[in-house]
Amino acid sequence: MKRITCLGLGLMGAPMARRLLDHGYELTVWNRNGARADSLAKAGARVAASPAEAARGAEAVIAMLADDEASRAVWLGASGALATMDRGALAIESSTLTVRWVRDLGAQAEARGIGFLDAPVTGSKPQAEQGALNFLVGGDAAAVERATPLFMAMGRGRVHVGPAGSGALLKLINNFMCGVQLASLGEAIGMAQRSGLDIRRTADVLAAGSPGSPIVKMVLEGMVSRDYTPNFLVPLMIKDLSYAMESFAAEGIDLADARAARERFIEAMAAGYHDRDIAAVVEPLRRA
Ligand code: NAP
Repeated sequence: MKRITCLGLGLMGAPMARRLLDHGYELTVWNRNGARADSLAKAGARVAASPAEAARGAEAVIAMLADDEASRAVWLGASGALATMDRGALAIESSTLTVRWVRDLGAQAEARGIGFLDAPVTGSKPQAEQGALNFLVGGDAAAVERATPLFMAMGRGRVHVGPAGSGALLKLINNFMCGVQLASLGEAIGMAQRSGLDIRRTADVLAAGSPGSPIVKMVLEGMVSRDYTPNFLVPLMIKDLSYAMESFAAEGIDLADARAARERFIEAMAAGYHDRDIAAVVEPLRRA
């Protein structure tokens, strides 16, 4: 495959598209806010005026969008991508979405003779820039093989999880655990700050000890230095925890930990951190 389209050029979508361009793919891009396509246009991407225009003639179309609503609008809205895609082309949905919606989208693509993969990613903005993402892929094995060169241009690996929807489900399981860890980290750092412990020393002990998971290590420095330059926005974590709760509930598991963690991120949103990094979950817990 040579002719690729990327829909959604946010914190993740833009660097993913850039990797494809740097690997020599003929790239077409579209973003709702067109200004976000400027630097890719300068680097050689063709910029389309709508998802439908962007998808025409592409061998694969990759979406990296905020949530179910955005995904529905971009694939199936008035000028959505599925309507103009060629039969036999591949639709790849990399956003973090509900399993319910991903399965529905996959069925609608297949009904039009378009191949479909759900391929959400682990890793954040730095990993997207470095081509170090890991793709969690749901769909049939032949389509996964076809898309593998694309995954390897944007990432360091891909796991074929199972049929359509299984990549989306594993991603929600993964992010539920990340969200819970970060909410508890915010509580821990908030407690250290309120009680007068040295925050840097506290952070060093947590990072070097049993609680020091990769996500904890990644976000800890932002919490300590109060640098909330976004890699992963607060509302997207609220969305991921909500979607995880829905999927777990469908299997009869009440995700109490996710509910409590989500409250912490909602508090950060309410405190004005809606456009800041998830490390800001600590802010409402600090004493002024
Ligand atoms: P982001 O920077 O907020 O970008 C969101 C993208 O969705 C933008 O292109 C935005 O367009 C578009 N969008 C939102 N609502 C839309 C709508 N109604 N119609 C059309 N486009 C719409 O988010 P991100 O960090 O790149 O995340 C993208 C996806 O990857 C999310 O599902 C997120 O959960 C997931 N993810 C993120 C990370 C991370 O570390 N950031 C890691 C793994 C997975 P505008 O520019 O016009 O607003």
